[in-house]
Amino acid sequence: MGKIIRERQTKIVATLGPASNTEEMIRKLFETGVDVFRLNFSHGEHKDHADRVKMIRNVEKETGRPIAIIADMQGPKLRVGRFKEGKIELKVGQRIRLDLSTELGDETRVNLPHPEVINSMTIGSHILLDDGKVRMEIVERGDGFLVGEIKAGRTLSNNKGFNVPGVILPIAALTPKDRIDLEAALGMGVDWIAQSFVQKPEDVIEAKKLIAGRAALMIKLEKPSALQYLDEMIAEADGVMLARGDLGVEIPPEEVPIAQKKVVRAVRFAGKPIVVATQMLESMIENPAPTRAEAGDVATAVFDGTDAVMLSAETAAGQYPLEAVQIMDRICKRVEKDEMYRKLIDADHPNANTNDASDAITIAADQVAKDIHASCIVTYTTSGGTALRAVRQRPAMRVVCMTQNLATARRLAVSYGVYGLEIEGVDTFADAVKVAQQRIGQEGVAKKGERFVMTAGVPFGTPGSTNILRVAWVD
Ligand code: PGA
Ligand code: MN
Repeated sequence: MGKIIRERQTKIVATLGPASNTEEMIRKLFETGVDVFRLNFSHGEHKDHADRVKMIRNVEKETGRPIAIIADMQGPKLRVGRFKEGKIELKVGQRIRLDLSTELGDETRVNLPHPEVINSMTIGSHILLDDGKVRMEIVERGDGFLVGEIKAGRTLSNNKGFNVPGVILPIAALTPKDRIDLEAALGMGVDWIAQSFVQKPEDVIEAKKLIAGRAALMIKLEKPSALQYLDEMIAEADGVMLARGDLGVEIPPEEVPIAQKKVVRAVRFAGKPIVVATQMLESMIENPAPTRAEAGDVATAVFDGTDAVMLSAETAAGQYPLEAVQIMDRICKRVEKDEMYRKLIDADHPNANTNDASDAITIAADQVAKDIHASCIVTYTTSGGTALRAVRQRPAMRVVCMTQNLATARRLAVSYGVYGLEIEGVDTFADAVKVAQQRIGQEGVAKKGERFVMTAGVPFGTPGSTNILRVAWVD
């Protein structure tokens, strides 16, 4: 099989689950267009995830293309307990007690196993259950219990999610389960840890400390308070996922697209990858084709300049995982080909930091590449910094990221336009240029005689600086 080269810059993340558990399926998903696989630690045993990691790494070896794996931690997702009958019917105006008793619930009461949440609620607080399908208002509170009055909703079943919009809850960003899952995931050699329900910058700092450089950290924005501290949060993280499922329950629906535009731009300008996630092709869980509105949603994320778009249940538990990836791939390609897309992307570029040589060189590289119709921009990088700086410009051509560090190539698989290339035995910039001249042609990224622009930081081994720009020809 020849090397897989995507005809798009925007990346695709797909979640694995029961619908995509075999190596054959993972290979097909990859061939169809998946650049990054997400393992959802809210479901499944560690053994299931470890098996998936092995299968992904086999596919990676076979295809010779670095693949990123994201281990998504469940985080402090609040849930009600269970009911005697599995579920209860609700009527508007009905009152229900939420308490700490672990006995099975009924029409009058149910367990809410979060004392710190019970204590921080006030009368008049609004609570959303089951992704917002049920709404209640707190009308009474006491020691270890709350009484809520149902404002909307028809049924409530076991372990449904519980959201308190707008309230910063005094809960740890990483639950005991998360800490165990995090160590297990790092042991499996995942590239990214996704941290759910971050509320404040300290949450991110805590996770970074625990990860201790063993993987990159992607924070999931799904609480309004995370949006409030957006810039500080981005500064602490290595990447961001806009988790529109929970976020859309916590903030009004009309605010979600606005938040998306703002977040995508802010993360991109910070030079970090942004993933737009959740319900992108939701109806394809059951149907072989998306709704027109879903196609529009994927297209909008691409127009917004996202690094990646994500599939959740569509590939994890749906009936049409491959079709979902195929459609997503087609939409991304179609948008990127559109004249308007280039105009919009080029109209809004991050400014170079004043007096920052790395930024200046990178912006120049993008400009030179455009002017000479270069086949690609090549970066030589150890930490990934030079590549991230290059893709921040959202260049029209591929960004080949040559590195001796496979972990860097894998992490960068989520980033816009990056084609990771693991290389060996390069000590000087002249060597790196020579390797680029040979490998780019062999990989099929560019043709013999085509020009490319190359940037790096010299001398090698000083991470974080980009200070050289070169034009060369493919051998
Ligand atoms: P989840 O996160 O799938 O882990 O809930 C995504 C989201 O909330 O959108
Ligand atoms: Mn979520």
